Amino acid sequence: MPYIAKVAVNDATIHFDKLYSYLVPAALQDKVWPGSMVLVPFGRGSKPRMGVALQCGEEDIPAQKLKTLLDAAPEEARLTPDLMALVRFLRDRTFCTWFEAVKAIIPYGAQYQPAVVEGRAVVQGRLTRPMERVYTHVAPPPASPKPGPKQRQAMELLAAAPRTQAELEQCGIARPTLDALVKKGCLAVSERYKSIDLFSAIPFDPQPLELSPEQQQAYDRLAPDLADDKPHAALLHGVTGSGKTAVFLKLIEQTLTLGRKALVLVPEISLTPQMIRRLKAMFGSRLAVQHSALNNTERLLQWRMIQTGQADIVVGTRSAVFAPLQNIGLIILDEEQEHTYQSESAPRYAAHDVAKKRAAAEGALLVLASATPRVETYFAATQGRMQLVSLTERYGGRPLPTVDFIDMREELSAGNPREISFRLAKELQANIERSEQSILLLNRRGYRTVAVCTDCGQVLKCPNCSVPMVYHKPQQALLCHYCGHRVAPVPQKCPACSGKLLYSGFGTQRVEEELAELLPGGRILRMDQDSTGQKNAHERMLAQFANHDFDILLGTQMVAKGLDFERVTLVGVLGIDSMLFGQGFRAYENVFSLVTQVIGRGGRADLPGRALIQTVVPGHPVLGLAAKQDYLAFYKEEIAFRRYSLYPPYCALCVAGFTGAQDADTLRAAIRFSTVLGELAASQPQLPLRLLGPAPMNITMLNGKYRYKLTIKCRNDAAFRTLLRQTLEQYRKENLSAKAAVVLDFNSDGDM
Ligand code: ADP
Ligand code: ZN
Ligand code: ZN
Repeated sequence: MPYIAKVAVNDATIHFDKLYSYLVPAALQDKVWPGSMVLVPFGRGSKPRMGVALQCGEEDIPAQKLKTLLDAAPEEARLTPDLMALVRFLRDRTFCTWFEAVKAIIPYGAQYQPAVVEGRAVVQGRLTRPMERVYTHVAPPPASPKPGPKQRQAMELLAAAPRTQAELEQCGIARPTLDALVKKGCLAVSERYKSIDLFSAIPFDPQPLELSPEQQQAYDRLAPDLADDKPHAALLHGVTGSGKTAVFLKLIEQTLTLGRKALVLVPEISLTPQMIRRLKAMFGSRLAVQHSALNNTERLLQWRMIQTGQADIVVGTRSAVFAPLQNIGLIILDEEQEHTYQSESAPRYAAHDVAKKRAAAEGALLVLASATPRVETYFAATQGRMQLVSLTERYGGRPLPTVDFIDMREELSAGNPREISFRLAKELQANIERSEQSILLLNRRGYRTVAVCTDCGQVLKCPNCSVPMVYHKPQQALLCHYCGHRVAPVPQKCPACSGKLLYSGFGTQRVEEELAELLPGGRILRMDQDSTGQKNAHERMLAQFANHDFDILLGTQMVAKGLDFERVTLVGVLGIDSMLFGQGFRAYENVFSLVTQVIGRGGRADLPGRALIQTVVPGHPVLGLAAKQDYLAFYKEEIAFRRYSLYPPYCALCVAGFTGAQDADTLRAAIRFSTVLGELAASQPQLPLRLLGPAPMNITMLNGKYRYKLTIKCRNDAAFRTLLRQTLEQYRKENLSAKAAVVLDFNSDGDM
């Protein structure tokens, strides 16, 4: 019987992602297993395409009916059964294609692509192999011909231990010398992946860590869950500055003592340096990182380090949850409320769910940690679905910052035209004089955020997206923050009626300029997407701020969370109101969390902290609760709202997004999808299901495509997902997928 591989291919769509059978030629039979990356001839033209083999074996199909597999990537590229389980999980839960799941799990640098070598289609690594040569001593050199001095030096060095070519070159021994010795049979040479220590500058300097009584209690409740090999989950709910990291460090230590490994996730690249520094100092070099600020080679080398068992601890952002770490005992999601843990492109997964899946497979402890957990997470803890462990006081008994509101309406009537209030300016100045530092949060980048025509009243929008263009002063251009569309020079006249344009709204660039005017000599560091584009920019900037090279750190949400600077005593919150009135059922949760978190950056060491919140609604209850850092009161309000209005955790929310080139077609496709789903659901009346819409998305057009959404409140179980798959199948059969592409998102806050 012929030997067959069933393959899922790259670039399939979710409506059409089936397995194709290929004949495996004899030469490849011991290279192709489930999980192997393979090259197959695909489609009418039989063009080479990458795929992943999911099933292999002999089958009773006439061989001549099948196309033949072209090539297979080496064994090291094969997905292990653990990672294959994650591929299946992602596909099942997020409605992505097989290969989208594969690409999410394997970093770019470890992926393969089609190539042609000597007229044959073959697979090729994406990176020219980041390999190094290692020389090993085999036998002493023969007496004649007499070895030269360089050869003798090489033999002596290598008699002690194998060395890499680079190390030998540093000792003045060149490649030809080594090659000559290999030829004589004195040395052996092999190739291996370079090992790089990205953090060699950080000293291994373990300090005794003593937990506070409250931290110790938290640890004592969590540690027993590390000791057995059953899966456990816990929420570590600790006020800002309570020292959650100290508890992590002890848990990690215990995990390693038990001979297992730890996976630590942080929500943003900007938080990785701080975490790496603490872990490296305490645990030394068996630490690997995975995040998008690494270049592809670094990322690949770190990944291989994990894959080959050379890392005990992995730190990284969302996608690090797929690290090929084995024998995991502990998974930590720090700042678990952060939306960055949810992927916004296929596969649209939440790191929480993947982490939970892995913890279940490995019998590990999953710790979700935050001062402001997601309402769903806290609910799960109150329901006993995870252990609830709280830290209620700041480490060292330090007080939480005091918070005052500044009413920006009064500021305006008092004749202050600026975005920075009189009071905030004064306090910033006082801080500079006392040599203390300040953090200012403004979650909008750019200079001016809207341009309105004073005649016809139109807002200048991106031609591809229904969003206002933002004026960026350094580039002297208007930029679309969604598609990158650029207009330069900056128009002064309305494109519709030639009326005068009025630029208003403010972003970080504008506030930076105001600060410079208000505080001459004040050293201001602006941190936002525009200023952190360069490699390691986050790390450099945060190190500079820690070093007190700057007085004020002004930035978007990236300055709000997780950072720990001892000289910060003042926090200012600007422009938060628009978020309060933002859409999506998580709007209040997001504001509460952001304000609580940023306030919590102050007064973390010996100096007490204070915060000022600028707003036009100083009496708003959400701001009031955030000012008091009263999570429980906020949770009570919020959970009541969720229950009353039927939102998660009282239901699952699936948003189906439809995007197409024609407005009417897109809407029609969305309506048809809704109808089909409704009809299919009617045959299963026991399934709880509510369909809302279709309605235009908040951003009605993006990248030139029209956008509609269908909101589905449901129970996200296998029966519901089957229903969705049937609907997608019907959608495809009716050829609607050509009119509007569908994506499904189970982590949406109500929009896309
Ligand atoms: P958060 O809970 O906000 O993440 P951190 O873990 O950043 O708090 O801790 C706040 C500050 O208190 C940090 O500067 C940290 O070094 C210090 N700290 C917390 N716990 C301890 C401890 N057990 N020993 C020494 N310092 C601690
Ligand atoms: Zn106009
Ligand atoms: Zn745009």
